[in-house]
Amino acid sequence: MEDYMIRVLTENKQIRALAVRSTNLVEKAHQTHKTTPVATAALGRALSAVSMMIALEKSGEKIGLRIIGDGPIDRIIAEANMDGEVKGFVGKPQIDLMLNENNNKKKLDVKKAIGNGELYVRKMMGLKEPYESKIRLISGEIGEDLTYYYTKSEQVPSSVGLGVLVDKDSYVKAAGGFIIQLLPETPEETISKLESNLNSLGSVSRLIEAGKTPEELLEIVLKGFSYDITQVNEVEYKCNCSRERTLEIVNTLNADEIKQSLEEDGYVEVTCHYCNESYRYNEEYLKEHLEREW
Ligand SMILES: [Zn+2]
Repeated sequence: MEDYMIRVLTENKQIRALAVRSTNLVEKAHQTHKTTPVATAALGRALSAVSMMIALEKSGEKIGLRIIGDGPIDRIIAEANMDGEVKGFVGKPQIDLMLNENNNKKKLDVKKAIGNGELYVRKMMGLKEPYESKIRLISGEIGEDLTYYYTKSEQVPSSVGLGVLVDKDSYVKAAGGFIIQLLPETPEETISKLESNLNSLGSVSRLIEAGKTPEELLEIVLKGFSYDITQVNEVEYKCNCSRERTLEIVNTLNADEIKQSLEEDGYVEVTCHYCNESYRYNEEYLKEHLEREW
């Protein structure tokens, strides 16, 4: 089954909803970064989130999610563009497996991996200056933090659910999520119906594991409402780095580092954080393309 995201609007124009199936995308992230299960779950939730969040933005934009906490994973970075290309990485991909024992069910402890910290949402709009806003993490489970972000920071009452199910052999069994948003002047009756639907939903990752599609997830969430599907997008883990773009990283190195690499190796090597592709630049190339001296 392919990964894809759908966006719907109820006929009464009171609720906007998105859902994604991102199992392959998150498995690709796991393979790319060799993440341990808890790191896979944390990164996978962030990747699933941005694959939907981008559909709430205007065309031509990119969206970036950055979570920086004092827990062992250090940081989670995820980014998505309008073409459904999603990528990301974590500070420490090999952190130990941690389980919590909530409700007698063992669960990967994403909250503990992240710790206390902040969540940043960055919107990149072509040539314009990027716009960034941040909130303090209120839960560390990512879904609840994004619920808080949309409700407080963007002032759109929202509910965000994210789930990643990792198999015993560390492979991703299922991943996905949803974002539900209330549009202005939604009556109390709609809100209580929606809340009761959400309460009966259960675990998103278990539903996806059971074969539920994004359409079927929203059928449960929006039970009793008529709606239209307004957008369907394939999503995939894809990095669009290139020799030229990665040169920006060389530009952030200090002159001594560049000089030393050129003297010792004959080139400066930079590895892309998102896909681990390495690029080598020799002195001649740097002289021609780098807009500074070293
Ligand atoms: Zn790359």
